[in-house]
Amino acid sequence: MTGKTKVVYSGSRQKAIEQFGRRRRLAANIKKVDNSTLHAGSPMYFYCRHCGLPTEMLPEDYVFPPITECSQCRGLRNEGWLEEAVRMVGEWLELSARSGSARQLSE
Ligand SMILES: [Zn+2]
Repeated sequence: MTGKTKVVYSGSRQKAIEQFGRRRRLAANIKKVDNSTLHAGSPMYFYCRHCGLPTEMLPEDYVFPPITECSQCRGLRNEGWLEEAVRMVGEWLELSARSGSARQLSE
């Protein structure tokens, strides 16, 4: 019962990486709030440092450190897939910018 059990997400790797790409595209279309431009008393907005999607909205005088990565990117990082995801998604974004196709996988 105790001890760490390594969960095997078989077949999820590709899916997780594709979803990372989707989050990045989503995040690219979201207007980010620059907390430094907000007037006093405004809630502060925080975003995932990997994919850029919003993670939290907190009062200005929040007590505990905000979340800096979303649950899905944390999962990627824990599995050791994040670097690959960043690399592959970067390539997809370049490809889709050039050809208009959403994605192209190569492995
Ligand atoms: Zn994320």
